Amino acid sequence: MKLEGIHHVSSITGDAQANVDFYAGVLGLRMVKKTVNQDDPTVYHLFYGDDAGSPGFDLTFFEYPGAAPGRAGQGMIHRIVLRVGSEAALDFWEQRLGNGKRSPGSLEFSDPEGLGLELRVVGTSDAPLTASHPEIPAKFAMQGFEEVRAYTYDPERSRELLESALGFERDGSSAWVAKGSHRGGRYVYDHAPSELGFPGAGTVHHVAWASLDDEQVAWRGRVIEAGAHPTPVIDRFWFKSVYFREPSGVLFEIATMGPGFAVDEDPEHLGERLVLPPRFEDLREQLEATLTPIHVPAAATRR
Ligand code: ZN
Repeated sequence: MKLEGIHHVSSITGDAQANVDFYAGVLGLRMVKKTVNQDDPTVYHLFYGDDAGSPGFDLTFFEYPGAAPGRAGQGMIHRIVLRVGSEAALDFWEQRLGNGKRSPGSLEFSDPEGLGLELRVVGTSDAPLTASHPEIPAKFAMQGFEEVRAYTYDPERSRELLESALGFERDGSSAWVAKGSHRGGRYVYDHAPSELGFPGAGTVHHVAWASLDDEQVAWRGRVIEAGAHPTPVIDRFWFKSVYFREPSGVLFEIATMGPGFAVDEDPEHLGERLVLPPRFEDLREQLEATLTPIHVPAAATRR
């Protein structure tokens, strides 16, 4: 039993429209679901990804309008690393973004709220997960998650859970790999800064690791055996989720690969309208009146 790399990464934004403009407009990702936070349906939950809305490339954002900027510290993820295919792709993105720190094989930059992102040239046999966008040549498009980087003072504290319960393989003193039969992804620690972190706009809320649908319950059992305290299996409608904190403090989720975002929308038209899980459908009128309307460019939804 192996986890299939990173399923999604969920972060916080204080400005849904600016978030759409950056992730769909500049980075060229497809908006694959426009919905609400299932734990607080008065706020947006926006999902961006590749054309198919695949687990393996799904960046999601909870919008808390006007949220103050947060800061990543101990027990928080501070950077999301996405794959690209070549140095020429980095050249393209460096020019398109107009900023970023370039080094061989890598371009580090931040989103408008300070969330740390990196594009990295990676040799992998995993299928590239790409979004098509009129301004972005397919050969330069981002190809899915490679890694998340978190802060901790002591990676050893998490080693037992990562290796024994989650089956991650160690790759250096503070890096691990989750490699399944479809995809792989890395989990890396950097030494935590002395300043305390706090959540807010531009910080990561949690990372989800992908599980084959029929193995999630067994993963949950292994997490309990390792001494962590997972939630029950929660039906998120597009996938099922279990959450727990790993010993360094980072919030982990184990999410099923299926059934996926096309379960309640035509795959050609994902993300065009506000989609509510069935149990919130009764609240639609009220929610649509509360949520700030956002403009999503047509190129970011239709395929
Ligand atoms: Zn999640």
